[in-house]
Amino acid sequence: MKATCDVVVVGAGPYGLSAAAHLNACGLKVRAFGETMSFWDRNMPEGMCLRSPWEASQLSNPGRRLTIDAFQAATGEQVSRPIPIKRFVEYGRWFQAHAVPNLEQRKVSAIEREAAGFRVALADGEVVRCGRVVIAGGIAPFAVIPPQFVGLPRELASHSSEQRDLAQFRGRKVVVIGGGQSALESAALLHECQADVELMVREGAVHWTWQQPWLHTFRPIGVVLYAWPDVGPAFISHAVARPNLYRMLPRSVQDSWRIKSIRANGVGWLKPRLRDVNMSTGLAVLSAAARGSQVELKLSDGSHGLVDHVLMATGYHVDVRKYEFLAASLLSALRLIDGCPILGRGFESSVPGLHFLGAPAVYSYGPLMRFVAGADFAAREVAATVTSARRTLGQQIAHPLRKPSTVAAHRISEEA
Ligand SMILES: Cc1cc2nc3c(=O)[nH]c(=O)nc-3n(C[C@H](O)[C@H](O)[C@H](O)COP(=O)(O)OP(=O)(O)OC[C@H]3O[C@@H](n4cnc5c(N)ncnc54)[C@H](O)[C@@H]3O)c2cc1C
Repeated sequence: MKATCDVVVVGAGPYGLSAAAHLNACGLKVRAFGETMSFWDRNMPEGMCLRSPWEASQLSNPGRRLTIDAFQAATGEQVSRPIPIKRFVEYGRWFQAHAVPNLEQRKVSAIEREAAGFRVALADGEVVRCGRVVIAGGIAPFAVIPPQFVGLPRELASHSSEQRDLAQFRGRKVVVIGGGQSALESAALLHECQADVELMVREGAVHWTWQQPWLHTFRPIGVVLYAWPDVGPAFISHAVARPNLYRMLPRSVQDSWRIKSIRANGVGWLKPRLRDVNMSTGLAVLSAAARGSQVELKLSDGSHGLVDHVLMATGYHVDVRKYEFLAASLLSALRLIDGCPILGRGFESSVPGLHFLGAPAVYSYGPLMRFVAGADFAAREVAATVTSARRTLGQQIAHPLRKPSTVAAHRISEEA
């Protein structure tokens, strides 16, 4: 038996789960793969909270009924604000059980094009054939390791995505590199775990958002300044919240607003927790070398010193060529700009039938796609594109090598 279906969804984070929920509701034969909320569960430190506000932290299903409020009501679990990651993971699992019960917690190892669709190989050996693939594989492979730290053993220098239990650094001297929310919150958590922590920020100052919460929440003013997802600076936030409008702006404006909207900053509620943390701004590490069980850092102000560990909260740079499951033949057919696929309607790439959601969609759909808040729009667009293609061409089997607009999603029944 060859397993076949209409759509394969790769990924079970906010984007994959939301897309699968909407595609399921369209009556398509969907196979969804991935570990539910694995990035949030394993690649963020215990004790961390979401930076995004309540409304912008919802997963999406048709009718938007599976909200965090519904989760609280159904389970009796109270979710505080800011939302603890532990609770968000529980919410994601509850959402999955209700909206994507067909999720298979399995790994995709290879995706290749075939004459009439895609061949998706799973790590356990099964092969699935499908008409479309929706990739929502997240940002884990895109972690940035600055060149100064390449080659150091993980015990001495690690990316923030590799550390879940910061309590292991109790009593040790740790330097946190970075000036974004992840760096700031990691530094606060390390301090609270009684580590001897120093935060090193390359820029001249730490940037903050939500310093005056009433500017975001006081209705007559807040709604004028910021759209509901609250991504981006005042006013720009309204364009960011409308990805189809954002797409129509001149490229130079899109690029400038994207940089402003996702630049490193911290949320105001973190400030009091950093009061007693040593923080240096305008300071960079020039080189790092292992010295026994410590790292020697040479800094841009001419000083040097030994620390027990360097935690690199140095962010992520999207480059879909780092998705190991994409076959070389697919990659060579993808039109990319700086590692991001160029996406058309319905998040479809230059390989017809292949869609990308989440951070890889930022170049085409704007900075909202870096955040959970973009999952609702993305999931609806993908589902609408797939179903409208089916309605237009009926059950006709589409050839995925045709242009995206002429490609129909097709249902392939089980074949022997
Ligand atoms: C420290 C930190 C804090 C953040 N805080 C916020 C926040 O407060 N609010 C916010 O909106 N955003 C936040 N973000 C951004 C956040 O990562 C994204 O919004 C969100 O995770 C994107 O969801 P996703 O579904 O694209 O990817 P992910 O949540 O990363 O999910 C990826 C999925 O793909 C699966 N997968 C990967 N490879 C394979 C494979 N080969 N086979 C099968 N499955 C696979 C994984 O198992 C996982 O299920 C934060 C990011 C970081 C790093």
